[in-house]
Amino acid sequence: MRIMQLDVNSIDFEPTEPEIKVHESTEKKKVSVKNALVLFTSIEKNDTEALASKAVKDAVEFAGKNKMTTIVLYPYAHLSSNLEEPQRSMNLYQYMVKEAQKSKLKIIAAPFGWTKALSLDIKGHPLAELSRNYSATAKVEKVQKGARKLDTSIVKKSDFAGLPETDHRIIGERLNLFSFQEVSPGMVYWHPNGNILLKELMSYIRQMNSDYGYEEIATPAFANIVLWHVSGHIDHYRENMYVINTDNDELALKPMNCPSTMLVYKSRKWSYRDMPIRFSDFDKLYRNEISGALSGLFRVRELTQDDAHVFVATDEQAEQELISILEMVKKLYGKFNLEYKAKLSTMPDSHLGDEKLWEKATNALKTALKKNGMEFEIKEKEGAFYGPKIDFDIKDSIGREWQCATIQLDYQLPQRFGLEYTGEDGKQHTPIVIHRVIYGSLERFIGVLTEHVQGKFPTWLAPVQVRVITISEHANKYAEGVYKKIRKDGIRAELDISDKTLDYKIREAQNQKIPYMLILGKKEVEGEKISVRSRSGKQKMGVTLDEFLSSIKSEISERKNEQLIT
Ligand SMILES: [Zn+2]
Repeated sequence: MRIMQLDVNSIDFEPTEPEIKVHESTEKKKVSVKNALVLFTSIEKNDTEALASKAVKDAVEFAGKNKMTTIVLYPYAHLSSNLEEPQRSMNLYQYMVKEAQKSKLKIIAAPFGWTKALSLDIKGHPLAELSRNYSATAKVEKVQKGARKLDTSIVKKSDFAGLPETDHRIIGERLNLFSFQEVSPGMVYWHPNGNILLKELMSYIRQMNSDYGYEEIATPAFANIVLWHVSGHIDHYRENMYVINTDNDELALKPMNCPSTMLVYKSRKWSYRDMPIRFSDFDKLYRNEISGALSGLFRVRELTQDDAHVFVATDEQAEQELISILEMVKKLYGKFNLEYKAKLSTMPDSHLGDEKLWEKATNALKTALKKNGMEFEIKEKEGAFYGPKIDFDIKDSIGREWQCATIQLDYQLPQRFGLEYTGEDGKQHTPIVIHRVIYGSLERFIGVLTEHVQGKFPTWLAPVQVRVITISEHANKYAEGVYKKIRKDGIRAELDISDKTLDYKIREAQNQKIPYMLILGKKEVEGEKISVRSRSGKQKMGVTLDEFLSSIKSEISERKNEQLIT
């Protein structure tokens, strides 16, 4: 982007006729402005909104410093031989105008795509004429100059020294669940143990989703920026989005699944008989959280949600769905004995759509909460920009509350995406959509749960469920047989036939919070039995392997919280 910036006593322009097919509508009227900063602007190929914002910001700052009150934006193609094609150029120009209008200055914009009569009276001071060049390539060069070989200084884990013992980051390190690496700030490296938690939690909600009639979809991480213009995210959520410039386009990494789910809905025709339609997904999402807000698993930049969108035809259907979603929340949080608080967030200042629909949606959420006998408090003006929401907050080990489940009722996005279904009357109608997550961010949920149980996950979640331990080497062969058999039955087991003392082996398994130890010595080998020791220290001798297996398998498949064998 090239800009010629002029400090003028006066500028007069008058649109005479459209110069190109792509042009803004305007009146053929003379505009006269006194004492203004004029920006003659050529938009070049690969220019981005980020560059445009920067150009506007610089001009506004310059005007502020020099006590100027008016900026005139003026499309001017003659500063560059590398011009952007007209449509995109006009879009970016209009974006600049909008950005400039956010300042307190008076903004005048000459129309794009017109031949104009022009006269200028430029001031005589040294900074009255400045030329500025904004280019997207500067950053790329800097990266290319960087290291090509792995520099050991970048392979650095985040340091959690000094955190309390109860913090999920300390427990996570001890149980080898995950790490944070400095090359990916705010993003989780899941180790095998932590990845088991992620997978088991997903499989639990997947089963619940299927019971409640949800179908799972998956959509791309990237989408052209136009999608986010339609959804309104660019206007309301841009500061949290990662926008990526390619040769021809601007792409954004998805911070939410809603827009792409709208596209899946839109890809076929629906009838009122198909409703409600329930789409779930587990795609990774990307949100540019400021680094000061990052906090272990509680707030990350790359996250996984148990997201879902339910499309309904009528308000009655919406209410029914809200009631069953709240029922899912109760079941799921009950499973983990988690205490939660419901909060109803109302219309924010920056919102889409008319206030009557907002009121209707807010009331529907209230009714569903009341019908579920759930107490709630009101958070004024904290709804999403497209609809009111119910949030469920859970406490961490030091009493901070973290928002986990969220349910939003939305009349706006379906309208913006032109979604339709054929009603009973044969006519086309717009559905209502309910956005919902129950765990919320799986990362955050695992953080909260880890602190809640202090690493003692119920058996169905525990990364290692059983450790087979020998008292002496006489039992090694028998132990290997037991270990193989329980692994074959799908139990996550480990074998410890090292020559460490029994006490040491038990202590190690306890530190790892492994639910069961099978302790095998001479007596067990001879009687073809096992001794079972739970992590709470209770021991049961003379158990047959089949008894143990049938008991642990039902504990796991029923996702029991308490240990069955104690
Ligand atoms: Zn959504």
